[in-house]
Amino acid sequence: FGLGACGSSSESTEAATTEAEAASTEVEATTEAAESAAADLSGSKYLSDGELTVGLNATFPPFEYVGDGTDNFEAVTSNENNVTGFDVAMMNEIGKRLGVSVVIEDMDFDGIVPAIGTKIDCGATGMTITDERKEAVNFSDPYYDATQGVLLPIDSEVKTEDDLKACKAIGVQGGTTGETVARGINDGAVVSVKSFNQAVLDLVNGKDDAVVIDQVPGEAFLSQYSDKIQLVEGSTFNFDVEQYGIAMPKDDEVMLNAINGALADMKADGTYDQLLEQYVNSYEAE
Ligand code: GLN
Repeated sequence: FGLGACGSSSESTEAATTEAEAASTEVEATTEAAESAAADLSGSKYLSDGELTVGLNATFPPFEYVGDGTDNFEAVTSNENNVTGFDVAMMNEIGKRLGVSVVIEDMDFDGIVPAIGTKIDCGATGMTITDERKEAVNFSDPYYDATQGVLLPIDSEVKTEDDLKACKAIGVQGGTTGETVARGINDGAVVSVKSFNQAVLDLVNGKDDAVVIDQVPGEAFLSQYSDKIQLVEGSTFNFDVEQYGIAMPKDDEVMLNAINGALADMKADGTYDQLLEQYVNSYEAE
């Protein structure tokens, strides 16, 4: 599958100027954009305090996970639990560009959306943009294309949706799109637990017949337990393409625009791709 969110073309904001002018003022314009975004935050209900509190569930490698201390912990900001990963690095970069400090809150996935605007300022946790969630929160522009995949015991014969229907225990992390997909296939078999670490452990220990999980995190868990589990790609089951977005409170347009601006700048100047390369690309299927 492709990385629809990166490398998209028209990030330029100099549409009104000639090409020559645009080229010569590009650096200046980027700086101005960053400065005005930072200045704009005085009107932000949640960011005017200079702090961006980010909720995530750190059982979703390589987007957020508890590292073993050998990772690049430059990415870790204000969290004592060594939470690292792509989303942490992305949010740190956004915080830097907006001139706010980033605080990481590791919490249950299903508690993140309800906490946005109260306990946390935003959620950045490989969260799929869905219509249902959009009723409760604003989403940033999409930043990553994903799909669900299926982890199975290494000797499993499951290959089709009908095979999945016949499974007795399908593990999911509560509140995820994986849970929705699994319930659509075989509601009665769904075993909903608090974390993907738990769901994968249950699979490895023979308690579950399958786990529905986003494909790239599935690859990351596979690399930890490659002697015990296998991954079947979502395309085999015709699962939909999903897009990740940063979830924010509905009542802060200033924050929404500032975060989208920082994200667009990161994509335009190559920082975004560099972080993908550092954290994510090695887990993608060819
Ligand atoms: N992308 C999935 C969702 O939004 C899973 C995210 C996660 O578990 N961190 O539901």
